[in-house]
Amino acid sequence: MLRYGIISEKDPREIVLLRGTGCFYKKCAFCDYHLDACLDDDENVALNKSVLKQVTGVYGNLEVINSGSFHELGERTLSLIRETAREKGIKMLHFEAHYLVRDKIAGLRSFFSGIEVRMRVGLETFDENLREGYLKKGMPGVTPEEVARYFEEANFLVGVKGQTVDMILRDVELGLRYFKRITLNVMCDNTTPVKPDKEVIAEFMKEIYPKYILDNRVDILIHNTDFTVGTPE
Ligand code: SF4
Repeated sequence: MLRYGIISEKDPREIVLLRGTGCFYKKCAFCDYHLDACLDDDENVALNKSVLKQVTGVYGNLEVINSGSFHELGERTLSLIRETAREKGIKMLHFEAHYLVRDKIAGLRSFFSGIEVRMRVGLETFDENLREGYLKKGMPGVTPEEVARYFEEANFLVGVKGQTVDMILRDVELGLRYFKRITLNVMCDNTTPVKPDKEVIAEFMKEIYPKYILDNRVDILIHNTDFTVGTPE
């Protein structure tokens, strides 16, 4: 498992994939990366410490992901992140969280006061039927305005059954209207019953990818490891 990487294009930053106690939600139908978890806080802290040691602060910008939401990292790991950020001159930190834990975000921002915190949400799509009916995302009825009140960045899923190019295009356009940056994750084969739809992905690559691949506000991940962390396929 690759847990440290450098993203040198668009929004240059270092990235660490840390381990927490595991996603509290675990119901998103397309997701199996919540399996990267351990209930033993001592073991997580030891692992996370070794990963954070690799941070150099080269861009002053650090993204922290943990196959779940930030609060599952626990206080000791969050303190290690804060120590690392102060020591290495990190000016901006990115964390991920499910929308259901939005009320914990203000506390996170004040814990890291003096450092800009950018929150990312896995929104997947603005299409309510797809998001809730098929992907089981657990955020029924949310409006873009409500999500953007708490989060500056959003992930969208591309290439699942039932999706069309028009739906993806709408997600990208609304995403760019409401968030500072967005990430488009192309669905990859995994252990869940949700499989990549090759036709939708081919259409996306033809119609949408060329329009946004050079956009500095859009990251496009064709493979899970394009952010240089994770498990190579
Ligand atoms: S996508 Fe995120 S919130 Fe959903 S089950 Fe996976 S880790 Fe949990």
